[in-house]
Amino acid sequence: MKEKPYKLGIMGGTFNPIHQGHLVAAEIIRDEFGLDEVLFVPSGKPPHKDNNEIAAPKHRWIMTVLATASNEYFSVSAIEIERKGESYTRDTLLELKKIYGEKTQFYFITGADAIAEISTWHKSENLPKLAKFIAASRPGYKLEWEKIDPRFRNFTYLIEIPALAISSTEIRKRVRENKTIKYLLPQAVEKYIYKNKLYQKGVGS
Ligand code: ATP
Ligand code: MG
Repeated sequence: MKEKPYKLGIMGGTFNPIHQGHLVAAEIIRDEFGLDEVLFVPSGKPPHKDNNEIAAPKHRWIMTVLATASNEYFSVSAIEIERKGESYTRDTLLELKKIYGEKTQFYFITGADAIAEISTWHKSENLPKLAKFIAASRPGYKLEWEKIDPRFRNFTYLIEIPALAISSTEIRKRVRENKTIKYLLPQAVEKYIYKNKLYQKGVGS
């Protein structure tokens, strides 16, 4: 009898900070696709982002661990944080293949905003060989096949998830403006932000 392959979801992100939008998307996709595990991979130095407002990798990693600890299917990887220089999805997938083995099926999870940019990613033509892609709906971004590079369409799934109009940008702004962020993200992460004075002057220490 053929052995069932291990299905690994990979949730990449800056997680600056992680919030309920990330967690709901990951959990619903895990359930719908029957994933054995969802691995959250906080980025080191993100190639697509301005670094001004980004909290130190150590803080983003700890917040991601705090937010995912209570879900038995969720885990966190430090590979992008430990890697020197910029992180590319392709390098991350290649490294994870070495760790999880060739038999593991990889599902790279992104939001509707990120999937539209996929063909601009480093050596993107090789990505479909490494993983399938799951794009989750996100308020403010239309989830449409037309926006996805035709070369990726056969390797991509689109999924509608309950809308949570939460973004890390909005949370950082609220912290700066002394507005509440309660319930937008897990309580442990909320407390961690205040304890470490993150995002208060627009710069993460
Ligand atoms: P920022 O505002 O700093 O860009 P963000 O909220 O977009 O932060 P990221 O770390 O950039 O969060 O996102 C990581 C991944 O999670 C991306 O693929 C993004 O599309 C997805 N994502 C983020 N927020 C949501 C949400 N509310 N619903 C669905 N997917 C989301
Ligand atoms: Mg974003």
